[in-house]
Amino acid sequence: MIIVLKPDCTDEQIEHIEEQIVALGLKPELSRGVQRTLVGVIGEEDVLRNAPLGAFPGVEKVMPILKPYKRASRDFQPEDSVVDVGRGVRVGGGSLGMVAGPCAIESREVLMEIGESVRQAGANILRGGAFKPRTSPYSFQGMGEEGLKILQDVGGELGMPVVTEVMDPRQVELVDRYADVFQIGARNMQNFNLLSEVGQTTRPVMLKRGMSATVGDLLMSAEYILAQGNKQVILCERGIRSFEDSTRNVLDLAMVPNVKQTCHLPIIVDPSHATGRPELIPAMARAAVAGGADGVHIEVHNCPEQALSDGPQALLPDQYAEVMGGLRQLAELFEKVIPEPAVGAE
Ligand code: PEP
Ligand code: MN
Repeated sequence: MIIVLKPDCTDEQIEHIEEQIVALGLKPELSRGVQRTLVGVIGEEDVLRNAPLGAFPGVEKVMPILKPYKRASRDFQPEDSVVDVGRGVRVGGGSLGMVAGPCAIESREVLMEIGESVRQAGANILRGGAFKPRTSPYSFQGMGEEGLKILQDVGGELGMPVVTEVMDPRQVELVDRYADVFQIGARNMQNFNLLSEVGQTTRPVMLKRGMSATVGDLLMSAEYILAQGNKQVILCERGIRSFEDSTRNVLDLAMVPNVKQTCHLPIIVDPSHATGRPELIPAMARAAVAGGADGVHIEVHNCPEQALSDGPQALLPDQYAEVMGGLRQLAELFEKVIPEPAVGAE
């Protein structure tokens, strides 16, 4: 249920409403917007239906949330969420998160070289996988904790927040020690235990859309994280499977404005995994920003032919810099900012 408060509702009345909701065994969640203050209540439908919520002083109306995802919906929170990923970098609400780096962390030297180049080009979040979800068990599986240490170290030296994938609930504690943002990969979008586990942390989560997941499935997965109390969720469109086989996946760009209609969470677009083809990435990155995405996620490697994972789709540092030049112009046109990580900030 959403309780819409009257514009002149006092703090005492809000407190009283919250106390009464708690007394019913339910949990109120206050959302103070620019226009209106709302109280979201999620709980047993029966208790909610019978509770006289509309009779409390200060209440204008009570509306059911009809969507299956509640905390993720704009009914619950009309304003865009802005996720703070550290070092002054915000994603959402007009602020673009530019995630870049290699698919996998391979060594300190390689990550540093790529990291320096993408930082220089304007990226504000460094990526790199230490646990890689590979289709073949014989492919490189990632450097594990050693890779996480390198990522943290390089991110610290460059002054960039870092994002890395966590694949299993048992890895959450470990990855939490080194990363600024958890990445939940496409293959784990419906690993509900993993979603609940990261939901119990206070660390931002970048949740990638599963390759066979509908928009509704993605939002329900986000709901798992939000339901545990972690509100810092960034969605990521990375392409879905279809009959089309000339690109690695099919980039569903329409999902960006589609999701934004009903959900307040920021959404970034990953044209690297979506197309799998470097020559298509610049156009799709521009289309993403023009279409209202809150950022772009691009894989970059200084020597794609030697990359241990996803080399064929990596952009070279120069190509990335060129893409970023275009994205900066678009950001200006659409009155968005690409925040620079604050030097010295944590
Ligand atoms: C990745 O980001 O390297 C990755 C494995 O992405 P996805 O989960 O979207 O396939
Ligand atoms: Mn990859």
